[in-house]
Amino acid sequence: MKNIKVDYLVIGAGLTGLATARALEVSHPHLKGLIVESSSFIGGASKAQETLMGNSTLGLRQLPGSELAIKALKFLERVSELEIVESQSHLEPLTFSEGSIKPFVGFGDVSPEFYSELSYFLKPTVIDLKIPLFEVCKKLTQDLKLEIKLKSEVTQVEILEGGFAVTVNGQYRIDCSQLVSTLPIKKLARLLPSAAVPQKIAQKLSKLSSWSAVHLDLITKTKTTDLENLHVLFGSSSELVSPIWGRFQKATESGLQLSQWMTFVKEPEAENPESLSHALKLIKRQIKRAYPELLAQIEREKIIIFEGYGQETDLKIPSAYSWPKSDALFLATGTIASESNLVGSLLQAELITAAFDKMSLISKRIEISPAL
Ligand SMILES: Cc1cc2nc3c(=O)[nH]c(=O)nc-3n(C[C@H](O)[C@H](O)[C@H](O)COP(=O)(O)OP(=O)(O)OC[C@H]3O[C@@H](n4cnc5c(N)ncnc54)[C@H](O)[C@@H]3O)c2cc1C
Repeated sequence: MKNIKVDYLVIGAGLTGLATARALEVSHPHLKGLIVESSSFIGGASKAQETLMGNSTLGLRQLPGSELAIKALKFLERVSELEIVESQSHLEPLTFSEGSIKPFVGFGDVSPEFYSELSYFLKPTVIDLKIPLFEVCKKLTQDLKLEIKLKSEVTQVEILEGGFAVTVNGQYRIDCSQLVSTLPIKKLARLLPSAAVPQKIAQKLSKLSSWSAVHLDLITKTKTTDLENLHVLFGSSSELVSPIWGRFQKATESGLQLSQWMTFVKEPEAENPESLSHALKLIKRQIKRAYPELLAQIEREKIIIFEGYGQETDLKIPSAYSWPKSDALFLATGTIASESNLVGSLLQAELITAAFDKMSLISKRIEISPAL
């Protein structure tokens, strides 16, 4: 296959990649853009998952409310030209203790090791969406004029004078002047030559804890509770360090009810199947303590393991949106944002869209200056 040349390349066709590409395409119609996506589908973690109760967004169990979350979703509304936010509900997190469901007041002296990951979910408000995010991905894909290349995995990124040479599937090269990566920094760093990764960042990355999220989705034949608040459950003091959390959704008229639960297992321990099975047992044990009848009512269950969770905020990337050794390598990942998960990645997408606009204006000025 012959080499391709574009002005900007976006790595990843998840929600962040699609939204960033659409924003860039609208504000820079004269530039040629392209998205490369390693999998055979669009949407990444925001793809649709089929359940007995209809389709839902795989990577969205809870969207905690905050000013930043609203800002992130407003950006998505502008880019997709859709109304996405329905309302915000005040729903304090709950826990089970001394035989009843009570307000969750914190972990006291012993916080779980993954507290910074968990804290994202602990806000007292929840945002309800008008449309599921997989539909937003669909709309963005329909609107996008630039090409999305599926089954195209970036295997290497070379930083050149004034641009990048990006190897795809180890087979062909895409040359671009600007590169937008939606990958976590750890994953991006592996694609760069070691000389392009500052030593401080390489050292911090090697020490950074990362987690595998273990999700358990349950559909029960009968309704268990009307409480849609986040439940944070933990048992004996030895389990205090590994709480589980989840939410019940509104039951259908026929009584089916979906509840979605999760906890984290430290990597690389999570590569051991026994650690994962222990985490699943822990989830079920805590659910049984709080709702003893629930497990007997299971109609369907689904386990999802999502690797590579971990805030990379500690890396202290100086510009907050571009790679230290290259201003034109934009970092559209929530892992370095002040908020993690979906909120963080959309905030970062908004930030890099604005930075890209500024940079593009500067390079245009440089181009025209000799003629003046
Ligand atoms: C099971 C699960 C549950 C979640 N629950 C929540 C939640 O409750 N609340 C919340 O806020 N967030 C949640 N998240 C996180 C949320 O879904 C993501 O933050 C959000 O989807 C961000 O999307 P993204 O586009 O940045 O990343 P992704 O959706 O991961 O997209 C990245 C894309 O890049 C592609 N890619 C990877 N490597 C390469 C490569 N080398 N070359 C080319 N393409 C590549 C991937 O295939 C993927 O399509 C959850 C995620 C999962 C998986």
